[in-house]
Amino acid sequence: MKVAIVGAAGRMGGRLIQAVSEAEGLELTGATERPGHAQIGVDAGLLAAVGELGVPITDDLAATMANADLLIDFTFPDVTLKNLEICAKLGKMVVSGSTGFTPGQKKQVEKYAEQIPVVLAPNMSVGVNACFKLLKEAAKILGNDFDVEIVELHHNKKKDSPSGTAVRMGEVVAETLGRDYNQVANYHREGMCGERTKEEIGMQAVRGGDIVGEHTVYFIGMGERVEISHRAMSRDMFARGAVRACQWLQGKSSGLYDMQAVLGLS
Ligand code: NAD
Repeated sequence: MKVAIVGAAGRMGGRLIQAVSEAEGLELTGATERPGHAQIGVDAGLLAAVGELGVPITDDLAATMANADLLIDFTFPDVTLKNLEICAKLGKMVVSGSTGFTPGQKKQVEKYAEQIPVVLAPNMSVGVNACFKLLKEAAKILGNDFDVEIVELHHNKKKDSPSGTAVRMGEVVAETLGRDYNQVANYHREGMCGERTKEEIGMQAVRGGDIVGEHTVYFIGMGERVEISHRAMSRDMFARGAVRACQWLQGKSSGLYDMQAVLGLS
């Protein structure tokens, strides 16, 4: 399968170039960046330090996708929506790891996925997806007697807060407990804000240095506490997850899929 990568010079871009170039059944045929980026024209393989691949980075996604079956997109919601529009027109598959979509933008993604197969997942790691499953079980067992708080830590360049993974963790717990995440998520506590409600799910984001990504969901009861944590040590496992999503998506019909589906966990 011929694969192109958008955002090739980004933190995830380099990891994705390496993962795709080493993956069975995948061939890197294109890599793009935003117009004016300093790395336009540079070979994607040299950029990712895996040796020359004969794939120069361009700023023309439509032309790049003419010679690719699938786009891997780890960028930002507004960029991803434009990329989906191009891929939907050309009938190309998309695997996107972008995070920070508003509910309205998510609806737009769903619209494009009516035309093409799309995997969208805020976290492509196998470990985090196992955590989603564990969270469902923990919420079922612990029920409404335990207060739920989520704390995530990321590097100081991350643009969206809380992370898409933390939001998904909150959604999984809320859905399992029969709550509407958008109603119960509490992002701000400051001053005399009163006691916490039974239903709320506190969401805290810590930013600093080069932390790849850490998430802990606390189930806090009377006299005891359960913590489900995931720590990412490198970005390579996100890239390996994206490769797995590409391989799984081949031959699938149009629709919006997540990593739970890719990993056979749903
Ligand atoms: P980054 O800023 O390092 O990289 C993004 C790249 O996209 C940059 O090189 C930027 O120039 C490029 N870009 C921006 N606009 C563009 C355009 N119009 N056309 C082409 N390229 C464009 O960010 P990052 O740390 O690599 O993260 C990227 C995204 O991936 C974020 O949304 C992040 O939250 C997400 N992410 C997801 C996972 C996951 O497993 N799903 C893991 C890590 C990061």
